[in-house]
Amino acid sequence: MPRVFVAGSFNVDHVWRVATLPSPGATLSGSYATGPGGKGFNQAVAARRAGADTRFVCALGLDAGAQLARALCDADGIDLHAATADAPTGTAGIYVDAQGRNCIVIGPGANAALDAEFVAHALAGVAAGDVVLAQLESPLDAVARALDAGRAAGATVLLNPAPANVAIDETMLVRADVLTPNETEFAALLLRHVGERIDADAVGNLDQQRLHALCRELLPHGSVVVTLGASGCFVSHADAEPRGDTATFYRVAAEPAQAIDTTGAGDAFNGALAASLAQRPERAFIEHVRFAGRFAARSTEQAGAALAMPHLVVE
Ligand code: ADP
Repeated sequence: MPRVFVAGSFNVDHVWRVATLPSPGATLSGSYATGPGGKGFNQAVAARRAGADTRFVCALGLDAGAQLARALCDADGIDLHAATADAPTGTAGIYVDAQGRNCIVIGPGANAALDAEFVAHALAGVAAGDVVLAQLESPLDAVARALDAGRAAGATVLLNPAPANVAIDETMLVRADVLTPNETEFAALLLRHVGERIDADAVGNLDQQRLHALCRELLPHGSVVVTLGASGCFVSHADAEPRGDTATFYRVAAEPAQAIDTTGAGDAFNGALAASLAQRPERAFIEHVRFAGRFAARSTEQAGAALAMPHLVVE
């Protein structure tokens, strides 16, 4: 049975909606909500709700946050492999103002203690045809071990290089079959690895030939999917490996959506892409990307991240 293995973070998000973002010394009142998050967990929920057998590998504390993670994985049928860390479960404090701008503080807590050996053990059963998906909210040696486990088994290895402020080196990039940056992450990778300074806002307006050339420099052997929010995404393959597509590079428009909250759209996209690749390996890559776009569009129509993932199964 093809499976998706997600190694990554779980956070308890604490969200305050305020009129204006706080300045130093300010005391504000606002409406409060809490819920699950963390890129790893969000992507695992997306993969599962897209119909894939999904294992989520993470580290949790010994607290209410850990109980929440376990209960949610049970409810969604996610195969949770959680190490217990001597630290609180990860948290994020998020302020959102009336204009939708935000300010986020992440307390990695247990996520920072995700151990590479634990990850390798939890991914020992990965097989050819499976998909391994990781992000950069976990220690980089643990991320590398997840990707290596996938490569060694002949699985498809997806790296979502998020968040943008985490620097990775070439050795991490070469482990990925498919790299899925958003515009900000793509701009950060280009600056670091290709020596090109391109404004994140300008990425979506670049000529496709140029985007393709930049992607080829970034990941010569693999595919790059640059997600462009409401503008969809850009796909670039290596010449020798177009993954069933007839074009080596192309744009895919976003699916129309009545978007009310785009938090976690990228996570929805990544989880759904992984699920589609695992379940329908015979399909051309563009079909996986279209499915991921449909899934992500639906996720923007609900508030929240993990709990906003639609139940939209790969047909
Ligand atoms: P991130 O959340 O990582 O910044 P993006 O904003 O690029 O990621 O969104 C990921 C994908 O989600 C996009 O490629 C697109 O398919 C879909 N998406 C995002 N925002 C919208 C929207 N407003 N309408 C429809 N689809 C969207």
